[in-house]
Amino acid sequence: MPYIGQIATGESLISLSQSKLFKEFVGEIRPAPAKKHRVLNPATVPAPTETINTVVAIDGSIVTEIVRNGFPGAEASLVQIAMVLIKLDKLRQKKPKEILPPSIFNKMDSASTVQAVLPGRNIVSATGLGPREFFRYTIYEALQGSIQDGHETLLDTYRDLFGGRDVEFRCPIDGCKDSVRSSSDVCACEKKNRLYPTDQLRFHERFNETGPNGEAHGEVMRFLEIILLINTLRFFLKNRDAIPLLPRTAFVFDGPLAAFGQFASIAPRVREELSRIDKECREETGRGIILFSLIKTGQFVEHFDQIDFCPTKGPDQKFPNRTALLPPIDYIHESIVFRPQDAKEWSKDTYFGRVVLYKNASGQKMVVNTPRTTPESEDLSNVSLAAFPRIGEILGVVDRLSTYLFEGGFVPIVRAHSHAAIPLRTGGELLKGLFDE
Ligand SMILES: [Zn+2]
Repeated sequence: MPYIGQIATGESLISLSQSKLFKEFVGEIRPAPAKKHRVLNPATVPAPTETINTVVAIDGSIVTEIVRNGFPGAEASLVQIAMVLIKLDKLRQKKPKEILPPSIFNKMDSASTVQAVLPGRNIVSATGLGPREFFRYTIYEALQGSIQDGHETLLDTYRDLFGGRDVEFRCPIDGCKDSVRSSSDVCACEKKNRLYPTDQLRFHERFNETGPNGEAHGEVMRFLEIILLINTLRFFLKNRDAIPLLPRTAFVFDGPLAAFGQFASIAPRVREELSRIDKECREETGRGIILFSLIKTGQFVEHFDQIDFCPTKGPDQKFPNRTALLPPIDYIHESIVFRPQDAKEWSKDTYFGRVVLYKNASGQKMVVNTPRTTPESEDLSNVSLAAFPRIGEILGVVDRLSTYLFEGGFVPIVRAHSHAAIPLRTGGELLKGLFDE
């Protein structure tokens, strides 16, 4: 067993930094410029024009476990996407900073989940599908549910958004002909193997027959979260009773408003659909949608920490609470995510959101993503308030939620709740709760 203990211990890291090769490598690295051309000045964000009391939060979780089926290393992941309805006005009576037991949320919100068990290596279905094909099948199957009886399924949403594309891709079936088209239901060879409408996203190409599949499963989870978000917004838009509630409900997403990896190609369609929903919402109600996500770690938060330094008072002291910084793309390239001059703008294709650095009312620093639903938001150098639609209401909700939060944000609330949630496929009734005002 020669490899046990050969992970990067403190000792081996020291020897790395002392090695001749590493020193030469460091000599070849250009440091980030010490003197920046640009400084981010706090934005003046208007106070919310109305109080938002309803939050719909979407949050996925994933647990991978060993499956004892006789094959070594066989594993599968349980993916759960919880959607939780939180009434902020019911939270208000509680004292700030008090940590609420998760049970209190059972009384005031309702939850629904999308659940899927995604097979990993060495898992064969009872019907004889091999691991990769079984994986493809479960992605398709995961879309069969609906958040509310009578509303379109996640598959309907998916088909409406991406079904129209006729893309060519490598046949997902082992040993088959070179390529298939997404408009086809069967593969190109004489066996006419079944193809699924989700195959065109090519999650299966990242499937690992011999190693762990955390990455592939994680991508499917992100994909399901996005489809669930759009499906929910479409519910509001299609329901006459729900439209008036749409601009008064904050939709909160976990992680960046973006699509990476295998399914990154859906980001432009998601952007178009969110813009369409926002436009229709404006036409019907006079105001747009409120959508945001929170990211509490990563290089943007790290950068925010670096610049929140006061020469006299020390770290975390430069910016007062309730400071919002709106970085334009050239600032991001210069200080946070390096891009060569002529390269494509960071986030242009993969994101459907913009980045806001926000130090909230209680001093927590976080990254907020606001949606790219306006023409101004599509211009990544535009940092006018129009490029961050409904930012006043968004930051208001962030502040009110964070007063009651567990350390680290509100997402654990959703997590704490999700084990008790109702699987979507048994028939959803979640959004009914919206009308019980
Ligand atoms: Zn074939």
